[in-house]
Amino acid sequence: MDGGFEAVIGLEVHVQLTTRSKMFCACANGYGGEPNARTCPVCLGLPGALPVLNGEAVRAAIRLGLAVGGDVSPCSTFYRKQYVYPDLPKGYQITQGPVAIVEGGHVTLPGDPAVRGAEGRVRAGIVRAHLEEDAGKSTHPAKGARSSVDLNRAGVPLLEIVGAPDLRSAQEASDYLKALHRLVTFLGICDGNLEEGSFRCDANVSVRRAGEPLGTRVEVKNLNSFRFVRQALDYEIARQTALLGRGERFTQETRGWDADKGETRSQRSKEADQDYRYFPEPDLPPLRVTEAEIARVRESMPELPEARQERLRTTHGLTDYEAGMLLQTPEFGAFFEAVAGACGNGKLAANWLLGEVSRTLNDRGCAIQDLGVTPQHLGELIAIVERGVINLKTAKEVVYPGLLAGDGAPAEQVKAKGLAQVTDRTAIEALVRGVLEAHGEQLEAYRGGKVMLRGFFVGQAMKAGKGQVDPRTVNDVVDELLEGKGR
Ligand code: ADP
Ligand code: MG
Ligand code: ZN
Repeated sequence: MDGGFEAVIGLEVHVQLTTRSKMFCACANGYGGEPNARTCPVCLGLPGALPVLNGEAVRAAIRLGLAVGGDVSPCSTFYRKQYVYPDLPKGYQITQGPVAIVEGGHVTLPGDPAVRGAEGRVRAGIVRAHLEEDAGKSTHPAKGARSSVDLNRAGVPLLEIVGAPDLRSAQEASDYLKALHRLVTFLGICDGNLEEGSFRCDANVSVRRAGEPLGTRVEVKNLNSFRFVRQALDYEIARQTALLGRGERFTQETRGWDADKGETRSQRSKEADQDYRYFPEPDLPPLRVTEAEIARVRESMPELPEARQERLRTTHGLTDYEAGMLLQTPEFGAFFEAVAGACGNGKLAANWLLGEVSRTLNDRGCAIQDLGVTPQHLGELIAIVERGVINLKTAKEVVYPGLLAGDGAPAEQVKAKGLAQVTDRTAIEALVRGVLEAHGEQLEAYRGGKVMLRGFFVGQAMKAGKGQVDPRTVNDVVDELLEGKGR
């Protein structure tokens, strides 16, 4: 980087857990709906209300801990972190400390060659992952109107994953975030919805001369898209590098990302820990996790996405890129495997899913689970093309749209719409003869040496067969008849 400077980045990722109820009360955990409808004395912070820890959230945290190779603490504890804000009715947030339910762990990443050269894969450390509760949501409308608070989100379970300062560029930070996003969605502990804030992060970044101790960091708060993380960090790295290059000093602060202006803006100087007046939560006992509980969670763990990508690549002869694309969501991956199973050809199934099906999803702006086509039907379609019952063109232009429109199984469509490909050689010979007779002039030219015209005859025959003739047979027959055989 410029003048021997190096960026150092560590992310704090907030993962909303998809439990049925909130972290410390029986209120439903959900998104949207009538403001303040999902509240009770506990999440409203009414005096005397007592929190009860959600076991489902604990098991979700253990899953994450096992997936990143961290230590699941046999005994972790809760803290109160005090601050005053309208969306925080208790006046404090219950979080974990000094011991978190997960301590340590890591994810591996490709590593950004722009800053690391050919160093290869990077082991990005995880310091800890702790359970805590979300705050409510304040809305500040335009001037004049009153602000309002919705506490439906207050008390929703969060798992905060604190990353070590091991990342060296905005690209690496975004790769790290994508890896974690894939992990938590494949573990089934988070819905991964970025727009709704189910997965968001604070990005800490500093700049130093290579080899020197860590520099003063800035925390960019509340980023909820991979692109914003990249843009905010690139901006911040350039800003800090310029300041340090001029020999200027700055203090630790919290900044926000203004997506419209494309810049970070100072919000406040960073609270020192003592500002939060942390103290142990008196209403919750220490959280004890037994070996037996950890073993039960371990048994229920799904195949991890990295291993699954490798398995898809090798068993179906795919590229690493294709295997990765097929695992864009757990549902997409499951759909692919079902189609591959149904047609017995993973490569063809991958082509269809990353081609036609992805186009449909993009056009409709929907997810695979809303496609309205079963993997069995898609598999059957691929299989009948392979068997030569219909050709690929008919599959793409008639039968696949028919599946989307609910026209019934591929075999039924072929029957009902009369799509079966003509493979009968006598019929195709008659067809090709007809084409040659109809184009006497071109035939003359061909015999005179214009051999390029062979393709023209094939095209005409395919057209005459309305795309339902077997192209291989057509090619054979055209060659035969042009050479004068069979005449
Ligand atoms: P706090 O809890 O006050 O936010 P932590 O020490 O727990 O502070 O660190 C929070 C995050 O900041 C971690 O993800 C860590 O990797 C990152 N971080 C800490 N120091 C630096 C630094 N000098 N530069 C970049 N990131 C840092
Ligand atoms: Mg922080
Ligand atoms: Zn409640």
